[in-house]
Amino acid sequence: MSRPVIMIVDDEIANIEMMAAVLEDDYEICFARSGRDALQVAMDARPDLILLDIVMPEMDGHAVCRLLKQDAVLCAIPVIFTTGLDEPEDEERGFEAGAVDYVTKPIQPIKLRSRVGNHIELKRMRDQLSALATTDALTGLGNRRLLEELLQSQLHRLSVQGEWLSFIMLDIDFFKQFNDLYGHLEGDSCLRRVAHALRDAMRRSDDVCLRYGGEEFACILPRTDHDGALEVAEQIRQGIEDLGIPHKGSGVSPVVTISVGVATGRSASDLSMELWISTADAMLYQGKRTGRNQVTGHVIEPPRLLQLPDRTRAAG
Ligand code: GH3
Ligand code: MG
Ligand code: MG
Repeated sequence: MSRPVIMIVDDEIANIEMMAAVLEDDYEICFARSGRDALQVAMDARPDLILLDIVMPEMDGHAVCRLLKQDAVLCAIPVIFTTGLDEPEDEERGFEAGAVDYVTKPIQPIKLRSRVGNHIELKRMRDQLSALATTDALTGLGNRRLLEELLQSQLHRLSVQGEWLSFIMLDIDFFKQFNDLYGHLEGDSCLRRVAHALRDAMRRSDDVCLRYGGEEFACILPRTDHDGALEVAEQIRQGIEDLGIPHKGSGVSPVVTISVGVATGRSASDLSMELWISTADAMLYQGKRTGRNQVTGHVIEPPRLLQLPDRTRAAG
């Protein structure tokens, strides 16, 4: 397992060296010598914990901490203030800015090591809990909670440029009969194989597949137009059929098949993720009604702009 990364921010290089010497046996160390550099280094190195000096020229530690806490990604990194200030109100201000702890200078090595150790352990447990809360235990894919988080944040990100986002929903055909015929354990194993095939079908690094619930899965394809998404969906459908998992109870095929719904739209700040989910869901069920084992898609139209009646325009 890789070692946790600690970032030390201090305008005095001697302080950085001293703290690094205390911590380097157990952690990877990176550092920054100003508040501004700190934000950039944090972005690049994604440390597990930040030791942050308060008194620095230009941007002080409190300001850096507040900026870190405003960032969607960096806000999860615990910050410990290290400072010569030891008035109670300094401590209060530090906690208000979002720090988890406070170490006063001159640094006592044992104190620093144990405070850092405790907060690294707490962070590890928090990360583990949040991974558990967003992972589906049977397939190892992200679960519906993660799906909603990712879909929302991708739509938000892509809305700046009004880029395409495609959303795929798929559902195993006649899966109740599969369970009835082969038993729930076989059913579970079938779900795992479908999940595995789905993961293999993701082409780009930010394409992601998840388990929506039961025998339903979903894929988020950022920056993918409708033709591209239909192609991916058809490959997924074919891939599942090609697994050749026998299904004597299916009304459409001797092997396990899926029906797939695809929704594509240009992200806009006023369009909610429910629009993509409900559109893909509607397409999926249209496919179920009209034969199963097929891909059905729809392009989400942006809401019509308010159009003035002709005669008003003529009058103007
Ligand atoms: P359709 O083709 O219309 O989708 O029919 P279906 O039988 O697949 O759909 P239905 O919704 O009637 O049944 C879904 C089945 O999926 C019922 C449920 O027992 C099964 N299922 C849901 N989650 C799991 C699971 O984690 N493991 C197993 N083995 N079965 C599951
Ligand atoms: Mg089904
Ligand atoms: Mg279903």
